[in-house]
Amino acid sequence: MIITIKGNADQKQINNLLSWVDSMGLKTNLSVGEHSTIIGLVGDTTKVDIDLIRSLEIVEDVKRIQEPFKKANRKFHPEDTIVDVAGHKFGGGFFPVIAGPCSVESYDQVLYIAKEVKKSGATILRGGAFKPRTSPYAFQGLGEEGLDILVNVKKETGMPIVTELMSEDKIPLFKDVDIIQIGARNMQNFDLLKAVGRTDKPIVLKRGLSATMEEWLMSAEYVMSEGNSQVILCERGIRTYEHYTRNTLDLSAIPLLHEKTHLPIIVDPSHASGISRLVKPMSLAAVGSGCDGLMIEVHNDPPRALSDGAQSLRPDQFDDVMTVVKKLLPMVDKKLS
Ligand code: PEP
Ligand code: MN
Repeated sequence: MIITIKGNADQKQINNLLSWVDSMGLKTNLSVGEHSTIIGLVGDTTKVDIDLIRSLEIVEDVKRIQEPFKKANRKFHPEDTIVDVAGHKFGGGFFPVIAGPCSVESYDQVLYIAKEVKKSGATILRGGAFKPRTSPYAFQGLGEEGLDILVNVKKETGMPIVTELMSEDKIPLFKDVDIIQIGARNMQNFDLLKAVGRTDKPIVLKRGLSATMEEWLMSAEYVMSEGNSQVILCERGIRTYEHYTRNTLDLSAIPLLHEKTHLPIIVDPSHASGISRLVKPMSLAAVGSGCDGLMIEVHNDPPRALSDGAQSLRPDQFDDVMTVVKKLLPMVDKKLS
């Protein structure tokens, strides 16, 4: 961290700042120039309140040169983290595809979709049992019954399951769930992040509706700081001024985050676009961006879906996407997992 001191600051005030920094266990490097004085802080500055320093009367400017995330940082962990879900690997050149309905609606529905998407090459089944809906009057999900359906379909098909957790008290119900999803709306629910950080389950952490990449990585850091390093980031579009699409898919995040973090990053083109006919082109673009997997909503009868029908693919449309994804993967040195 570098602090630039105003030209008119007196030595006593500078000394006060230096001894305060010293009391935080950090070393300082002072460089006194003709017009300004610069203090470099050396050591672990993650706990330093940058806004507090900026607010000091003698401070002209402060810059963080170290990133505030440590456990998620590629600098301290150069190799890719590979998250293994029942033999299906995320990261390190492996590319699983997660598919399934937005919401679990019935056993027959989920079983039918699971069998179809599995035939096309999806290896992990998704389906929401607890649904974070914008309106309290919209379908809220089948809850515990939905979880039982997913677990039964997992037994029938052998597909691991991923489903969203909305509150900490439901964690015991998730014992047979293979991946816990933290949805966009809960990306900064810090108590929930800490709670899943104390589980031994892989976590799919979706990007918040208007979260910066750094905020998203800090949320991953919350999970990891409690001991769980199996975090899979999921880019699902962010809110912009554009309203022709539900969200704006930020694909530039993928190569950039691969530089910043060792965690695998998947793309959800369904929530990102909100329009089923955009799911194929966005899936192909996502593969090109270098992501480590896809999550796609598939429904047996999209017009009658209880949630997100407009963005859901029919199984035959999903199969078409997978045909092209399979052709592209070798070009980006990835293989289905
Ligand atoms: C979902 O996956 O069904 C979902 C609600 O996603 P998001 O949190 O990205 O909106
Ligand atoms: Mn959905």
